[in-house]
Amino acid sequence: MKVLKFGGSSIADTSGIQKVVEIILRELKRGPFALVLSAMKGITDLLIQAAHRAEQGNRDYHTLISRIKQTHNAAVEGLFSEQKKGIVFNDLEQLYKELRDFLHGVELIRECTPRILDLVMSFGERLSCILMTHYLKQCGVKALFVDARDIIVTDDIYGKAAVNYDETYARIKKRLSGIKQAPVITGFIAATENKVTTTLGRNGSDYTASLIAAGLSAGSIEIWTDVDGVLSADPRSVKDAFTIRELSYEEAMELSYFGAEVIHPNTMIPAVGRNIPIIIKNTFNPEEAGTTIKNEIKKHKAAISGIACIENIVLLNIEGGGMVGIPGMAARIFSILASAAVNIIMISQGSSEHSICLGLKQNEALEAVRALKKELKKELESQAINEFLLIKELIIIAVIGDNMRGTPGISGKLFSALGKALINVLAIAQGSSERNISFVIQNKDKAEALKTIHKAFFHTQIMRKP
Ligand code: ADP
Ligand code: ASP
Ligand code: MG
Repeated sequence: MKVLKFGGSSIADTSGIQKVVEIILRELKRGPFALVLSAMKGITDLLIQAAHRAEQGNRDYHTLISRIKQTHNAAVEGLFSEQKKGIVFNDLEQLYKELRDFLHGVELIRECTPRILDLVMSFGERLSCILMTHYLKQCGVKALFVDARDIIVTDDIYGKAAVNYDETYARIKKRLSGIKQAPVITGFIAATENKVTTTLGRNGSDYTASLIAAGLSAGSIEIWTDVDGVLSADPRSVKDAFTIRELSYEEAMELSYFGAEVIHPNTMIPAVGRNIPIIIKNTFNPEEAGTTIKNEIKKHKAAISGIACIENIVLLNIEGGGMVGIPGMAARIFSILASAAVNIIMISQGSSEHSICLGLKQNEALEAVRALKKELKKELESQAINEFLLIKELIIIAVIGDNMRGTPGISGKLFSALGKALINVLAIAQGSSERNISFVIQNKDKAEALKTIHKAFFHTQIMRKP
């Protein structure tokens, strides 16, 4: 039993969907499988924009609904026989109508809460999976549409809900094990115990696939996308990036957490304990071996495995004489930020304890400063803490690899390469796992820094690239 997940980039249009079905038809001969699909490429973004326009009372959201409709209807035109088209259009039309009604409600009340936004976003995966179920049936596959909201149970943190694993696995098993058809399961979406729609975070369909795999005790998870696997760096930024053949779960988690969006970081959680391998493959180049993520990986000589990068970062510097030697100050700062739902991406503190430097997402920085000013009012008034310093337009780069552990000289190589390229480093952090060194630089240095580091660590691999 295998779980195959196809992302939005694979099912972007008629020809992509046909490629996906070729892969599925080949798989049909090999044994049972479950399918997980994302929304068609760009649809989730259009849904979000439509919801925001409706919230502002901008009736332009109808144009966006029309674009969503055109994308799906063009695929139907290209894929279905004349007699089938009517049935498929009809099924999709019901969803467009439901979406229009919801957005009209948003327009009337001029409010789009995260809960409503999750409901609006759910249309992307529902549309793509209904379309694909019909097309698979036309191609002779016994397919069954499955709405993940019936089987994946989460809390009510809308936009990035947390999964109730026990309940989810029990429902997956009950609903899907032993069924004769190939289930076509909506990625990304889920529901609370009370059947309110939630989502698992952007790019979350990968995570859905591994939840399904864990619930069904599958032998493997295949993530089909538009690149040959996890590459040594984002191929849009580094043209010499090459496919990494094998990664440990921890390496994959770190790379994806630090921005390698080819796989969602949570995907590894259900797979790691059960030792289910995750294979990333290219829908448009299926003969390539791809990347396998698993427990025991072959030893390789490179000091690092990959490089990743998070954009739109700010550094928040909290500094002051009153912080020296006072136990619990860092804990207080972290708990204030946690209560304000601000995510701390990176922490760096010098041993003098005079300052703490935090890497945050730009869009959470103002909320962070507001919460800290409120909760640390006394310390600011008595000047135990100075004013907060916010440095903007930064990025975090992380170099990642299990081989870094216990290998001296990696930081030296990294920072001397950056120094030679005249790139200024604003903050550095290394976790005790020694699997990751992350550092902050200015956004304007991104391209040069990635190229420089990639060349410094992967010189031999680049030379061997065909
Ligand atoms: P899908 O639609 O299949 O979910 P995504 O767009 O979410 O695909 O992820 C694939 C994209 O991730 C690639 O096209 C590539 O541009 C980007 N990417 C960023 N970092 C990496 C990396 N290290 N390796 C491979 N792809 C990466
Ligand atoms: N459709 C969702 C998104 O665009 C989930 C996914 O693609 O994995 O984020
Ligand atoms: Mg994705």
